[in-house]
Amino acid sequence: MLHSSVITGKCTASPFKIVMGLFDSLYPDEYLESAYDVDYEGWYKKGKRAVIFDIDNTLVRHGAPADDRSKALFERLSKIGYRCMVLSNNTKTRVKSFAEEAHADLKYIHMANKPFKSGYLKALDMLGVSASEALFVGDQIFTDVIGARNTGIYSILIEPINKKESFQVVLKRNLENVVLKFYKKQKDNSR
Ligand SMILES: [Mg+2]
Repeated sequence: MLHSSVITGKCTASPFKIVMGLFDSLYPDEYLESAYDVDYEGWYKKGKRAVIFDIDNTLVRHGAPADDRSKALFERLSKIGYRCMVLSNNTKTRVKSFAEEAHADLKYIHMANKPFKSGYLKALDMLGVSASEALFVGDQIFTDVIGARNTGIYSILIEPINKKESFQVVLKRNLENVVLKFYKKQKDNSR
């Protein structure tokens, strides 16, 4: 027998619920102020073995070289036992020089084509870990988070270091703010 909603042509899911469902796939697993605030020690105890980072506006300002803070972070992560990688859509010159300066053991992938999965899968392969053993830390929902989520990697969204950005990024940020508004609302409701 056909369901009454099929017969009457009525849709049981409200547009609001459909939109909320779409937003669900964009939500990070965690949202923090900074890449330097992540509880890396705690995550290691829970079984994570690798951390994949975005570079620009996540670890340093866009285009900036590795600074003392980022170098100290990679040294700390290495001492904990993590394997680390930077996964960036930026050029080889930019990504290679950042990685080499930041830490001797830091692997890198440039022109990663985020949010497509290929770069993330290659990163996991290079690190020798499964998706469930990795963390991803980045500042953009529409590149970093979507890609990590689609690959099954725990995603941590952080606030961009530099709030002043290009017009293209500002547009993306406005969309992100809408998603984050729903994300925060959902978090508040589940408390
Ligand atoms: Mg970034």
